Amino acid sequence: MSAVPRRPDRPPAADRPVPHRPDRPPALNGTPVTNGNPRTSATPALADTSAAGAPVATFRFDPALEDLLPPARRGVPIEHSFLATPAVKDAIEALGVPHPEVGAILVNGHPAGFDYRLRDGDDVRVFGPVAIAAMSGAGHVAPAGAPAEGQPAPAATPGQGPVSLMRAVPEPPRFVLDGHLGRLARYLRMLGFDAAYRNDADDAELARCSAAEERILLTRDRGLLRRSVVRLGYLLRNDDPRAQLAEVERRYGLAERANPFTRCIRCNGLIEPAERAAVADRLQPKTLRYYDTFGRCRSCGTVYWPGSHYERMRRVIDELAGVERTEPGS
Ligand SMILES: [Zn+2]
Repeated sequence: MSAVPRRPDRPPAADRPVPHRPDRPPALNGTPVTNGNPRTSATPALADTSAAGAPVATFRFDPALEDLLPPARRGVPIEHSFLATPAVKDAIEALGVPHPEVGAILVNGHPAGFDYRLRDGDDVRVFGPVAIAAMSGAGHVAPAGAPAEGQPAPAATPGQGPVSLMRAVPEPPRFVLDGHLGRLARYLRMLGFDAAYRNDADDAELARCSAAEERILLTRDRGLLRRSVVRLGYLLRNDDPRAQLAEVERRYGLAERANPFTRCIRCNGLIEPAERAAVADRLQPKTLRYYDTFGRCRSCGTVYWPGSHYERMRRVIDELAGVERTEPGS
């Protein structure tokens, strides 16, 4: 039997070494930075185009977030000019990273919330959720005391690291998907995850559903994830549904939480066992002859049985779990 391909490799950014130790805040000198003036590091900062004399903050992003930046801005400090005192959330999103992707922020070495107001010379370090989880030693970190709205980052105690800004992910994770992700929704349901999906849902509905039901919003649309009400979300990097499923697996650990064939692929309802006699009138005689086990969706009544479709789904699940399939039909 041919082996199923292993899980796809992680994106290259994730393999790059993190430029600081997780248990040690990055060394930041806090020196005011002037636009176009290279910092005293080996890597010159990339300057924004800006009006002369505008305030400037320097941003550095966790390698895990760099694939969200334009290629020219990866791997270098970014000098970002601004007017007035924008929230750091808006500046991070203007650079290309939607706020639900951000695990923590340090400003001049101190933890900051999304509403921290940027000041001239600020040195901003932006971490992804994976980096924060590694620092805490936990899979997902509950939000903790970010600074109060509009306040500068407080003085840090020695050795203080980033404070997670992430909303706790529901266990098991549940999702809402935007209208272009029908195949991904089917895969997630096949794995038993609660995946709300309608191909005609508009952005406001999706954002509201994510916030009200604490669902992780999956989308390819950065603008949708910038909505402030969305606190749980993930920007899919790939167009291909199988690659998208692998991304969601890497981010949320689907394989270990999957409960396959418990949820209706059509409507997201739960599947319950059904007696043969109760579903016989809905099946072909051949199906009744070869199969003994049946399930039925509580919501829409769709009948399921372990046929060829089941085998295709089984292969997707095994691929996701990195299992080499040797016994088709088992
Ligand atoms: Zn159903």
